[in-house]
Amino acid sequence: MKTIIIGGGLSGLASAYRMLKDDTSDVVILEKGYEVGGMAASYHIGNYHIEKYYHHIFESDSELIDLIGSLGLGADLQWLKGTTGYYIDGKIYPMNTPIELLKSPLSVPDLIRLARIVLMTRRAKDEEIYKLDRVTAKEWILKNAGRSVYERFFEPLLRSKFGSSHDRVSAAWLFGRIRIRSNRSTSGEKLGYLRGGFHRLVTRLTESIVAMGGEIRTNCEVSEIGIVDGSVSGVTAGGRMDCDSVISTAPPHALLKMVADAPDIPYQGTACALFGMNRSLMKDMYWLNIKSSVPFGAVIEHTNFLPLSDYGEHLVYVTAYFQDDTDPRWRSSEQELIDSYLDGLLELFPDFHRDDISWWRLARDIDTAPVYLTNYIEKIPRYSTDIKGLYLAGMFSRTNYPERSMNGSILAGFGCAEEIRKRIRA
Ligand SMILES: Cc1cc2nc3c(=O)[nH]c(=O)nc-3n(C[C@H](O)[C@H](O)[C@H](O)COP(=O)(O)OP(=O)(O)OC[C@H]3O[C@@H](n4cnc5c(N)ncnc54)[C@H](O)[C@@H]3O)c2cc1C
Repeated sequence: MKTIIIGGGLSGLASAYRMLKDDTSDVVILEKGYEVGGMAASYHIGNYHIEKYYHHIFESDSELIDLIGSLGLGADLQWLKGTTGYYIDGKIYPMNTPIELLKSPLSVPDLIRLARIVLMTRRAKDEEIYKLDRVTAKEWILKNAGRSVYERFFEPLLRSKFGSSHDRVSAAWLFGRIRIRSNRSTSGEKLGYLRGGFHRLVTRLTESIVAMGGEIRTNCEVSEIGIVDGSVSGVTAGGRMDCDSVISTAPPHALLKMVADAPDIPYQGTACALFGMNRSLMKDMYWLNIKSSVPFGAVIEHTNFLPLSDYGEHLVYVTAYFQDDTDPRWRSSEQELIDSYLDGLLELFPDFHRDDISWWRLARDIDTAPVYLTNYIEKIPRYSTDIKGLYLAGMFSRTNYPERSMNGSILAGFGCAEEIRKRIRA
């Protein structure tokens, strides 16, 4: 039995790891990029690694936490305070504790309406949430909390996450998100991080796969999945490779180029700059959401989350989601985009100078997250497809709803491995 896995992100690595551990199949991972890791890949800077896109985890990410433990990295998984804030009307408002919320620009009646929404999401049964898949988040908030809560609180967040699609995102998605993010104590939210970076998880997984006899080929793009009489026969990646099963972890539109039928799930892109700085930008704030006309939606100071001594310099992400390939954040040159981000920082932080920046890197990808429009839930593909031997796992899988995550991709990879094991046993 031979399985080819398309993509060496966490879904692909997790499915290979599980199949080899269970002795289900021989495994070859084909990754089009020059390295594995996908969205969870890292830069190697000086003597440390840092994720290309900001990453942390939640206490509910149990499969990821178990995997980190079974790979021998559990002692380095740490739970740290991740402070958040909101830049509104030219001012930064910390938003971590009830007292800080009371000082926010929301009026007391609006805060009560907001608290009511949070309670509603916590109490809702799954069936009720699924029904909200047909309603937009905007309609639902306007109806249940009023225009002022929508415009002052939710709209900027939705815009920052979904750009021009912000008013088409489903209320079911919003419910799921509020549930995850409101599960915090009165002193704020604890977030998890693997000291040394999630690069260590990717490396340990890769080493284990190779040690168990798996093969990983990088710079190897799959252009076609071969199908004979409704069953998978192999793939084309430069040359032809035969196999019994294929797990595709590529985004839907990339899958569509390889096989005639693929799930119809829209994705959005991210343009995420990382700045090495010689001083702190936001004092003790980790994550700042922004309501302003600057071309980014959040500023994330990694070294206000992890100790500065792990890196020896301040690390700040400046990031934006964009909806399609016409967006200037995708079309402009790297230098133009960085300049526009720096101009934005100058506008928001009066003490900031360009000389504070020692270096920058830019990660830009057009397929970084599904966009959870209305009727999304019914489009989520199962692991097994109608083509015998073709399985799908990735950021579009059910385990990655209502938010894609490392945990969700690992679970999806495990899910496909289990489907293949069941098929062999049957
Ligand atoms: C900005 C950002 C912030 C994030 N923050 C967090 C966070 O804080 N916490 C968290 O848990 N998660 C976070 N995530 C999500 C997490 O990184 C992803 O859910 C996870 O890494 C996705 O893994 P995947 O394998 O499903 O997909 P991907 O990582 O996209 O992997 C798919 C792989 O397939 C390859 N591929 C595509 N087409 C082909 C082809 N034709 N042939 C061969 N290879 C192909 C791609 O190159 C890629 O490597 C974040 C993601 C982003 C973008």
